[in-house]
Amino acid sequence: MSTDYDVIIVGGGPTGLAAAVYTGRSLLRTLVLEKQVPGGQIALSAAIDNYPGFADGITGYDFAEAFLKHAKRFGAEVLVGTGANSIIRNDDGFFTVGLSDGRDLTAKSVILAMGRHPRKLEVPGYEKLFGRGVSVCATCDGAFFRDVPVAVVGGGNSAVEEGHFLTRYASEIFSIHRRDHFTAQKILIEEYLHQPKVKPVWNSVVEAIHGEKEVEGIRIRDLKSDQVQEFPVKAVFVLIGWIPNSELVRELVDLDDQGRVLVNELMETKVPGLFAAGDLCVRPIYQLANVVADGVQAAVSVEKYLEGKK
Ligand SMILES: Cc1cc2nc3c(=O)[nH]c(=O)nc-3n(C[C@H](O)[C@H](O)[C@H](O)COP(=O)(O)OP(=O)(O)OC[C@H]3O[C@@H](n4cnc5c(N)ncnc54)[C@H](O)[C@@H]3O)c2cc1C
Repeated sequence: MSTDYDVIIVGGGPTGLAAAVYTGRSLLRTLVLEKQVPGGQIALSAAIDNYPGFADGITGYDFAEAFLKHAKRFGAEVLVGTGANSIIRNDDGFFTVGLSDGRDLTAKSVILAMGRHPRKLEVPGYEKLFGRGVSVCATCDGAFFRDVPVAVVGGGNSAVEEGHFLTRYASEIFSIHRRDHFTAQKILIEEYLHQPKVKPVWNSVVEAIHGEKEVEGIRIRDLKSDQVQEFPVKAVFVLIGWIPNSELVRELVDLDDQGRVLVNELMETKVPGLFAAGDLCVRPIYQLANVVADGVQAAVSVEKYLEGKK
């Protein structure tokens, strides 16, 4: 039976577009489905300073545009504003992907690259100042805040690890947590609290983030005493967790307890012909350089899989 495409890539973030460059260049009939804007999480980032090869940095928008152009140059079709609503593996081993516009398309293989989204802080100022002092990634944005006070919100492993990373740059780190202890690994907590720059603020929540164009401060409420305090921080790192966009495939593939897709080093899921890559999956780090590598690996694995089917 013939199919509409050799591969359908679900998600047009850096992972999906990197995969499309490779599958397109290998002359595989490639479709990328992107339900929002190409570039994924990075599209809205004001500055990327750590992607190797861009010594002067690059905006998220320009980065996303460059990836999109590259994927299209090798013939990948990219449907923007169209999501995948369902994925079924048929008895013949091919896939039927149900689109948000009502169509069904078939493919010999599928790469899942739906990424993840951060848990938000539902307080005034969060949305307005996102990318202008409000950040969900200390590894990405920490270096922009040298010798100024910052806040970290959260108490799990990522808050403690990324808070620790910020001690290289910030003058002070107000580490705000709603409980009276962190829930990260003990060793990480000990190392973190040992840092003189770290000032834990227990039993407290952020009530508002102030600033017009950039973060100028935050208001904190102590949940025990009900007292309110103002902190004149220049950045707020909200590290309260991530939600993988794996709902679509929860019945199809194996997920870990956080909902991340489990893959092997070839980006294979447990379903033959179904690959997954990037932030959607369990990865050692969540950065552009490695999700791009994931996308490339998934594309090469698709090629090998399809060759085996010939
Ligand atoms: C604010 C911010 C700044 C960052 N800065 C840096 C940095 O400076 N350096 C760095 O290395 N990393 C940075 N990162 C991390 C980097 O952006 C991510 O690791 C990377 O974007 C992950 O790529 P991805 O393609 O796997 O997922 P995503 O970027 O999440 O892209 C997934 C895409 O899939 C789409 N999608 C989801 N579900 C569907 C569906 N059902 N159908 C169709 N499309 C779907 C989404 O709309 C999205 O566009 C930053 C992250 C954030 C949030």
